[in-house]
Amino acid sequence: MELIVATGNPHKVEEIRAILGPHGVRVVGLDDLGAAVPEPDEPGDTFEENAAIKARAYAAALGRTVLADDSGLEVDALGGRPGVHSARYAGVGSTREERDAANNAKLLHELSGVPMARRTARFVCAICVATADGHVIATARGTFDGVIVDTARGSHGFGYDPLLFVPDAGCTSAELDPAEKNRRSHRGHAVRALIDLLPAIV
Ligand code: IMP
Repeated sequence: MELIVATGNPHKVEEIRAILGPHGVRVVGLDDLGAAVPEPDEPGDTFEENAAIKARAYAAALGRTVLADDSGLEVDALGGRPGVHSARYAGVGSTREERDAANNAKLLHELSGVPMARRTARFVCAICVATADGHVIATARGTFDGVIVDTARGSHGFGYDPLLFVPDAGCTSAELDPAEKNRRSHRGHAVRALIDLLPAIV
């Protein structure tokens, strides 16, 4: 069983592969596929809308069923920002690493002076599976709660992982080993919600 995960983000592919692999699914990312599919715009106001836009666009372009993930960070003291704009929050950087570093620096700047008690936040992940003819055959959502710390910590993961402190783990998401992050994370919860539907998906 093979499933295309329509993202060029190798971290997302790895996380999803670690969950679905043991269920007999060979997870293939866009980079593995070597297909040059243009990235669709993500004009939606919600993670769900953008996940559906991505799933439909890539499924149509590839002529295959695909799974798309749209995710991001909601910070309560910022009225839910960066939200659906998480990937390009700071708007600078030509590589993923540069963008992540600039996004984290901007987030720390925006939260400077905000006390820890008001720095609650969560990662959100919406997943959509669409067929080549544009039908959405599965959706799921997961969340991962924490608090935004004032100094980045940890080297696992990507994006805002070094800034999301997970109180009951006593460390940031970037300090969790990958299996533990998957057990707790927004993406882990959303992907596991699809496992019972796999026979209809792949
Ligand atoms: P997308 O690729 O358009 O869905 O954007 C996702 C963005 O949200 C990433 O670039 C990160 O900035 C952030 N994000 C989503 N999931 C995670 C995660 O698991 N850890 C850290 N940051 C994440």
